[in-house]
Amino acid sequence: MKCTRCREPAEVKLRAHNSAFCRACFLFFFQRRVARAIEHERMFDTSSRVLVAVSGGKDSLALWEVLANDGYQTVGFHLALGIGAYSERSRARTEAFAAARGLELHVRALADESLSIPDVMGATRRPACAACGTIKRHYFDAAALEHGCDVIATGHNLDDEAARLLGNVLHWQTDHLARQKPVMQPRHEKFVRKVKPLYLTSEFETATYAFMRGIDYVVEECPNAVGATQLTYKSVLDRLEDVSPGTKAGFVRDFVARASDAFAPKPAEGAGDVAAIGTCGGCGMPSFGTLCSFCSLRAEVDRKLAKRSQTASAAPATEA
Ligand code: SF4
Ligand SMILES: [Zn+2]
Ligand SMILES: [Zn+2]
Repeated sequence: MKCTRCREPAEVKLRAHNSAFCRACFLFFFQRRVARAIEHERMFDTSSRVLVAVSGGKDSLALWEVLANDGYQTVGFHLALGIGAYSERSRARTEAFAAARGLELHVRALADESLSIPDVMGATRRPACAACGTIKRHYFDAAALEHGCDVIATGHNLDDEAARLLGNVLHWQTDHLARQKPVMQPRHEKFVRKVKPLYLTSEFETATYAFMRGIDYVVEECPNAVGATQLTYKSVLDRLEDVSPGTKAGFVRDFVARASDAFAPKPAEGAGDVAAIGTCGGCGMPSFGTLCSFCSLRAEVDRKLAKRSQTASAAPATEA
């Protein structure tokens, strides 16, 4: 097998692209693919300050390295979720990655605010990933504001986007389909644009990039991901991709190019109605209600934890 680009022996075959590459050409291909997504979707340019949400996994670390190497101004932000050893390893990998490359990294630990994901799961009946999503959104938005960033970049890859799209289509989640884009424009001046530069880059490609570049990332999945429906969708899509290479990329790319606008809310439905957005009484971030969804969650956790400690202190002491 020869490299499609330089005819030297190839190290990796990409069936979806009908190509094979040697190491140098694969790295060139990968970087160019990310750069093209950024330019084509007008995600940001070298004058932007980009907050990169880094989890410690291969996708976000690969993205951060590509952006930094391409001369973009990046600020890393890691939210330590407090999910036991998994979160400890994720934080350690992220900090080591940033230190080795001299990159600016900010870390926020949920455990410092009694909001670690296990705390939240223990106090509320909300599914872990739903609560985690609300918490991440809040801290990413707040970090972009705090560190003067114009845009938030996440490491969502093609496999993530294809699985999410399949789930949204199967359940006709039209409001979610309206928001499934590689670029989400802000709806308030305190929010910034959110972008996914890897939305057409497969998980296999980011894993290959991370391996070739010697990036030490957390290989294990979050324990809460086990059994998630998203993984079932991913395995169905893997089977389709196996039979027909390029299916995932076509599904996502063509949805964005040809179908996503059909789901955009009409002005009459309040689309982009900035005037309707008030200020959260808890955190000061934009909110449709008196409290934003993050502060409502935090209030629920605080209430439940306070009630539990009252009950514990009122319980009669048992004889040893
Ligand atoms: S899988 Fe883990 S990190 Fe991902 S949303 Fe769920 S709880 Fe959060
Ligand atoms: Zn080559
Ligand atoms: Zn709030």
